[in-house]
Amino acid sequence: MDFANTYVALGERFYQRSEPTPVSSPTLLLWNTRLAEQLSLRQKPASDAEALAAIFSGNTLPKGAEPIASAYAGHQFGNFNPQLGDGRAHLLGELLDDQGCRWDLQLKGSGRSAFSRNGDGRCAIGPAVREFIMSEAMQALGVPTTQCLAVVTTGESVYRKTAEPGAVVTRVASSHIRLGTFQYFAARGDRESLTKLADYTIDRHYPEVRELAGNDHVLLLDKVIEKQITLVVAWMRVGFIHGVMNTDNTAICGDTIDFGPCAMMGVYDPQTVYSSIDTSGRYAFGSQPDIAHWNMVRFAECILALYEQGDEAIFQQVEPLISDFPRRFQQQYMAMMAAKFGMAIAEPDDDKLIRSLLDSFSQRQVDYTIGFDRLTESLQSEAAADQAAELLGSAFPAWRQRLARQATTDDEVYVLMRGQNPRLIPRNHLMEQVLQSCTESGQATAAEPFLEALRSPYEETPQTAKYQSVDEDFDRGYRTFCGT
Ligand code: AMP
Ligand code: MG
Ligand code: MG
Repeated sequence: MDFANTYVALGERFYQRSEPTPVSSPTLLLWNTRLAEQLSLRQKPASDAEALAAIFSGNTLPKGAEPIASAYAGHQFGNFNPQLGDGRAHLLGELLDDQGCRWDLQLKGSGRSAFSRNGDGRCAIGPAVREFIMSEAMQALGVPTTQCLAVVTTGESVYRKTAEPGAVVTRVASSHIRLGTFQYFAARGDRESLTKLADYTIDRHYPEVRELAGNDHVLLLDKVIEKQITLVVAWMRVGFIHGVMNTDNTAICGDTIDFGPCAMMGVYDPQTVYSSIDTSGRYAFGSQPDIAHWNMVRFAECILALYEQGDEAIFQQVEPLISDFPRRFQQQYMAMMAAKFGMAIAEPDDDKLIRSLLDSFSQRQVDYTIGFDRLTESLQSEAAADQAAELLGSAFPAWRQRLARQATTDDEVYVLMRGQNPRLIPRNHLMEQVLQSCTESGQATAAEPFLEALRSPYEETPQTAKYQSVDEDFDRGYRTFCGT
């Protein structure tokens, strides 16, 4: 591995140097061959699993790695915490892939750091495998996301509600710069570091800003807003509920990060919440756009903190970006929904029709994925058309009439819809079965076929039917947990 460490070069205000704590018995559980190839880490034969386990548990530091725990702050459920930081993660360094893209390599569950507070620095096998599977599923669904390279079991127990086998998960991210990283310096009034961070972020993620006319910091805000909108619209398309959209869990590169209490919505209901600690429904499925807006206001505050307090000129540039967020979001969201419904050529009343079609989904308690899948297939199959009609009632003929008015063939619309509407999502009950199996056996036997199926979510494969199963009763009582 050929490490670069540009984040370390930012200086010690950005992190604490910290080494992973070795584990007693590292064993490779999951390995992401595709990602390893992309990073030019050649897949090793089985005999080298031991060497990989040593590295991706943190027991052996690869040459050139300069492990750090990065510093960040964050609003957690709306309350500001000025110091969070990596309490159980170690950033080993950055790798360049075969395209010249830079990737952070981070171990999670690799032991305590200066930011651990009362935490043990560890991760249980279930959450580690969940992050691996969810990020693979999101990647295949076409949702911007961090990825996982490996899960290594540690041979040690972690104590949560009960003793559970421990694991270390290796995360690969475009970077780990969080909204909370900006907040960390803004809250300290450390304008020098904040400026350094903004410059670094522009160079690493948004270099095009340098070429554009205008204030680079305002352009950065504009780009980050654009990416957040794209991200949350993609979540809304597939029914993903992040569950803990705190500002420390918002990556500035615009990828999904931190899969702790995340879940997938089954029956369409914007108020769906699964996280056990989200008692007010702050992070409900349908609240995600508003929360993204709220988070972007927090980012705008960090941009303002780059300037003297009361700098009217910068405020006048920042404010319109914030007030325009809802319009901008709505535009992209409606375009996505129109495509989901196969509305290839826009009509003036589409927004109204989309809202009423979605109302039918919720009133008739239609499963979000199955509903759109049946609508899609209804273009090619009588049986699917009958199922869609039964699921959606009078909304089905209304939808058919709308599509009949556009100058498109069913085949064209089918391709459009199929590209937006997955057949498979990582169903909550199937995910929990797989995690339980991995926890009990210490083996990945149940995870592998699940992963295999989730890697082709839009195609009909021999596994599709098996993993399309819906369990509404399970979803009704489902609870997820943070920080496990
Ligand atoms: P999360 O809920 O995973 O986004 O984490 C929120 C904060 O708690 C971050 O600063 C984490 O590093 C920290 N944290 C979560 N779990 C642990 C743990 N087991 N040990 C130490 N710190 C933790
Ligand atoms: Mg410029
Ligand atoms: Mg987090």
